[in-house]
Amino acid sequence: KFSHQHRLGFGSSNPAGKIPLGLKRKGLRIVVTGGAGFVGSHLVDRLIARGDSVIVVDNFFTGRKENVMHHFGNPNFELIRHDVVEPLLLEVDQIYHLACPASPVHYKFNPTNVVGTLNMLGLAKRVGARFLLTSTSEVYGDPLQHPQKETYWGNVNPIGVRSCYDEGKRTAETLTMDYHRGAGVEVRIARIFNTYGPRMCIDDGRVVSNFVAQALRKEPLTVYGDGKQTRSFQYVSDLVEGLMRLMEGEHVGPFNLGNPGEFTMLELAEVVQETIDPNAKIEFRPNTEDDPHKRKPDISRAKEQLGWEPKVSLRKGLPLMVSDFRQRIFGDHKEGSN
Ligand code: NAD
Ligand code: UDP
Ligand code: UDP
Repeated sequence: KFSHQHRLGFGSSNPAGKIPLGLKRKGLRIVVTGGAGFVGSHLVDRLIARGDSVIVVDNFFTGRKENVMHHFGNPNFELIRHDVVEPLLLEVDQIYHLACPASPVHYKFNPTNVVGTLNMLGLAKRVGARFLLTSTSEVYGDPLQHPQKETYWGNVNPIGVRSCYDEGKRTAETLTMDYHRGAGVEVRIARIFNTYGPRMCIDDGRVVSNFVAQALRKEPLTVYGDGKQTRSFQYVSDLVEGLMRLMEGEHVGPFNLGNPGEFTMLELAEVVQETIDPNAKIEFRPNTEDDPHKRKPDISRAKEQLGWEPKVSLRKGLPLMVSDFRQRIFGDHKEGSN
């Protein structure tokens, strides 16, 4: 089944990291867990375009086959329906570990972050693959440092409603570093800040997807709390570029990957109004428990060590996801402005 292993001419004892930089390579065998999801599917597009062999492992919890369907029939692409909470045997060079119930409505009560990460680290150890964890800015909790640097340890409630996600990712980072130090696994850690773009889940409750879908459906934009809390929104292509640079680079991290442009939720609502419907109404709703008051990445480390910084501003990026959302919400039938 994995005959490309022979074509590539290096076995599992030669991890990706051992390929001299600059050497023209034939393509890597890469597994992307959560590759049918929002970020994962964009990453898969780039890896396939680069000439790598990609295996997507996804249980379709929040991901969709439609996100990767355009690769069906490509011999360099495989899709496996599998829950990473169960062990998995594959022979690969790199593991991008994205599988995770990533939004508040989905992530509760799910052991994916801990057990799934452990399994993928076990896989990386067995085959000598390089492992990249997609952690999150949520590890900083409701931060007392602003903007957040990677050296900040965070301010997280261990028993709150968000803890399964925050603490799950913190544990995933711990496991990753333990496998690195204890078993010599080559690891990379990205701390991803709020990201948006085409293929985002429409109804998973995140603020950008909520506002865009609401504006398109002519519903009021639901601002939680007083709307003065801030987030920094990154366009998905910038994130994918950062993830690939991190995987190919020499540094373990953790690295903040995010756009430092900081917006209050009311400002975000205004940008959505400008982009989709200036007449969209705003409706205030009670905020959720333990909602971080502000969040903005300090990306100096990624700039220095990965030569990376985001290129797409919110005003440029938002219209790029609107056409995708319009298509998915209304089908071919075009409505509204823009
Ligand atoms: P997403 O929900 O679109 O993608 C996650 C994918 O993982 C989905 O395809 C889902 O079906 C799959 N999955 C979930 N549990 C699984 C399991 N047990 N086994 C196999 N597959 C499973 O979310 P996303 O926004 O693309 O997030 C990708 C990664 O980036 C996640 O690890 C998330 O924590 C991280 N992240 C994302 C953001 C963001 O703003 N999008 C911010 C911080 C961190
Ligand atoms: N694992 C996996 N695929 C592999 C190797 C390991 O899914 O190719 C899982 C394995 O089932 C275990 C976890 O990864 O639950 C950790 O593996 P490791 O070998 O580090 O730990 P051990 O099995 O020795 O406890
Ligand atoms: N939010 C909002 N309206 C919504 C959804 C979310 O005002 O319809 C707020 C939420 O309270 C939070 C911010 O937007 O302050 C970002 O929420 P999201 O769930 O997108 O990301 P996270 O909280 O994980 O950063």
